[in-house]
This record gives sequence, structure tokens and C-alpha cells, in this order.
Amino acid sequence: MEYFPIFLRLQDEPCLLVGGGEVALRKARLLRSAGARLTVVAPQLAPELAAMAASGEIRHLPREVAAEDVRGYRLVVAATDQREVNRLVSQAAQAQGIPANVVDDPELSSYITPAIVDRSPLVIAVSTGGGVPVLARLVRARLESMIPAGFGNLARFASRFRDRVKARFGNVEQRRAFWESVLEGPLAERVMNGDEVSAEAEMLARLAASDTPPSGAVYLVGAGPGNPDLLTFRALRLMQQADVVLYDNLVAEPLLELVRRDAERIFVGKQRANHTLAQEDINSLMVRLAGEGKRVLRLKGGDPFTFGRGGEEIEALAAQGIPFEVVPGITSASGAAAYAGIPLTHRDHAQSVVFVTGHKQDGSIALDWPALTRPQQTVVVYMGLTMAAELCTEFIRHGKAAATPAAVIERATTSSQRTAIGTLETLPGLIQAHSISSPALIIVGDVVALSSRLGWYRRAEPAPGAAD
Ligand code: SAH
Repeated sequence: MEYFPIFLRLQDEPCLLVGGGEVALRKARLLRSAGARLTVVAPQLAPELAAMAASGEIRHLPREVAAEDVRGYRLVVAATDQREVNRLVSQAAQAQGIPANVVDDPELSSYITPAIVDRSPLVIAVSTGGGVPVLARLVRARLESMIPAGFGNLARFASRFRDRVKARFGNVEQRRAFWESVLEGPLAERVMNGDEVSAEAEMLARLAASDTPPSGAVYLVGAGPGNPDLLTFRALRLMQQADVVLYDNLVAEPLLELVRRDAERIFVGKQRANHTLAQEDINSLMVRLAGEGKRVLRLKGGDPFTFGRGGEEIEALAAQGIPFEVVPGITSASGAAAYAGIPLTHRDHAQSVVFVTGHKQDGSIALDWPALTRPQQTVVVYMGLTMAAELCTEFIRHGKAAATPAAVIERATTSSQRTAIGTLETLPGLIQAHSISSPALIIVGDVVALSSRLGWYRRAEPAPGAAD
């Protein structure tokens, strides 16, 4: 290890920054966020630094720097664009045993600053020894996406209980197990959502109880339209913590692979004719599993509150007092529209968009046709494939022009997405000719015509019989 990582306490400590440009400004902000008492030496200051000086947040010495200037400071940063000046400052500081950094110049520095992920009080510092700062930044970007924004709250919350947990569990093993169950469980999710009041009550109850059974919860999570890249950070995190996952046919294998390896998987899919598990059975299964203290992940295609029966499922949980959370997902209409180059609204073509289900109820499609055939409106039909011919006929019968653009998008957003574009008149034939199968969405409206110009996601259509 070429550099020894430490975290330095700078609250109210005198620090010297030499330079008044943009680079110096970035360093000034960073040092100020750590509470440093900052003096800046520079003949001139960039406007924002000047404002900080004017408000008294930093002290400004408006002149060239001299070697004696470093005296008495705890930390020195040189950020001018003149290497000789930076060298002078750094050497003067080091001669007095003061740590000195020259921005982007490890050779002249006695310490280097890392790339930072700040979830204070949780802070992660990444360094490549000053050699490849861009790599450190890439690592940082990955960490930023993995570590929830709420982790700072969680760290603060947990540290408040440190002494009490220590007093409660004399044994280190027990203490670690307790913290793991807290930091990875529903209680932590609640803290990250900002609900510290109920989290605190539960924490106290768990510290007071003689044994500490983990409390279960259900996470109703939208997995998006199929492409794993379109998961939310929150969905991914909950997937990686789940004890058991309940999923249905819309959740494809690449998504399931992201669920924690040792989580139990239960398929509860519904095919239209062949109901694997009745909705009531799914509900009571979730109630039972969460009641056993499990973290239950109810993974749904798209968004759980858009034709996903999410409402029905959590009603059952609410009635039984089971804690739950809902994580939105990208609904397939948004996914299909984006990946087919069909803006759902457009100032010239559509001022509104309607999502409907084309699923038959009692043998007919019960839809509000006058509302659906309004001009300047896009209609997205979920579950409409088997009824496509009837749907198109009804659109025309209720006054839509037969030439109205219409599209079908199969397995939208995945590597096997296929799109067929036609009109209300030609769409049923296209669906047949291309053997479009479920899952597929139908989009009707003038915006569909934009697809030929705005479609950007082009995949070679698989040849018949090709393995894809
Ligand atoms: N909750 C889901 C919808 C469930 S209903 C969501 O928000 O997307 C099931 C219907 O969704 C399917 O019949 C199909 O019309 C549509 N669908 C889901 N995923 C799709 C995909 N990747 N491509 C096209 N349509 C999809």
C-alpha cells in the first residue's frame, strides 16, 4: 500500500488554500463541508469564492503567496495553475511537517485526496494512488449507484443506539447478529424512508425483548418491462436482501438472476386460462411468510400498480397488519414507447395518453369507446393481443380513421424486442403475419407514425427458427 488512508478531523482547524480559480473553488467547498476554518491566498478570486469571502465564510488574503504563509496551518492545499508556486507552497509546508497536497500532482504532494462517496456520517474514499484518478471516479460512480441515498440517515440512526446495543448484548457475536438483522431488515428500510419515529419504537422494543425475532415484511416491487438495466436501485437492493421471492411469468430469468442466490423462489404466475395460484392463495402465502419473519419480495413485471393487482395484494397485507412497501417500476407502456421511438405525448400529436386493458371480461371488451376515440390522444392497450382484431374494429366502428397509426411491440426493451407498425386496418394482419406473441402491447395514435424516424433501438429480427 503506497498511501495510508486516514480520515482527518478538520472541524474548526485552520487550513490554507493557495489559488483562486475553479479548481481552488472545488477544494474550498470540500474543506468547508468538513468544517475547516479556511484561508485562501490568491491575488484574485473566482466569483463564487469571492462570494464566500464576502459572506465571511472564508478568509481571503488578496496577494501572491509566500513560503512563510504556511505557518500554523494544519493542512495546506495548493491549487494554482503555476507548478513553481505549487512546489514552493508544498515544500514550505512539508518542511514544517504540515501535510500538503498539490491538486492533480502526486509528485509534489505529501498526501492525496480520494474520490468520495458522501453519505455522512458514512464516507467512502477511493484512491488509485494518484495514478489514475479517472478510474477512482469510475469506481466511485459504481458505489454511488449501489449505496442508497438514505444510508447517511441509517448510519446516524444506528450510531445513536450504539451504547444501548452494547449494554444489551455483552457477546460480540450476538451484537453482530443483532446489527445485521437491523441494518439489512425492514427497520433499516423504514429509516431510509425517513420514518425514524416508528423505527425507533421498534428498535427500543427489540432491545427490551428477551429474544429478538426478526420482523418480516413484504416488498411489492416493480421489476420493469424485462431489461435488467431498467430496474430501480431500490428494486435491486431489495432483490439482494430477500429471503423469499414470489414472481410471475412476466419476470424473466435475467431479472431473477439478480435475486439473492439463497433466496427461496416461488412461482405464482398466472396464465390467462391456467391459474397457477389463485389471488387469495398468493395473498395468504405472503401473509404467512412475512409472519414467519421473512423478508418477502413480491416481484412484478412493469409497475405493480399498473394492471398488476398490486392494490389487491397489499390490501390483504394491510388487513393483517403485515408491514409492506411498494417500489414502482417502469411500466411496459413507458418501456415499449421509449424503445420503439413512440413518444406517448407530443405537442403536435397527442395531449393525453390512456392506458387500458384489452382483457375480455364476461366475453366482451368492456371499454369506454367515446373516451378512447378522442382526437389528439394516445391509447396503450395492455393484455390486448388475443383481442387485437376486435379492438381495431371497435376503434374504427367508434369513429377512428382506419388509417390511424397503430403498433404492436413484443417483449419490449429486451434483446428480443420486435415491433410491427401499421394502421388500425392493417395491424391484426401484421400480428398474424409476424406471429407476435405475449407479452405485447398495442399503441394507437398519431404518435406511432414517429417511430420510423425516432426508433433508435434496432435489433436484427430473429430469422424464423433462429435461437434467440
Ligand atoms: N404491471 C405490468 C403490466 C401487467 S399486465 C406493467 O406495468 O407493465 C401484462 C401485460 O403487460 C401484457 O399482456 C403486455 O400487454 C404488457 N407487457 C408487460 N411486459 C411487456 C413487455 N416487455 N413488452 C410488451 N408488453 C408487455
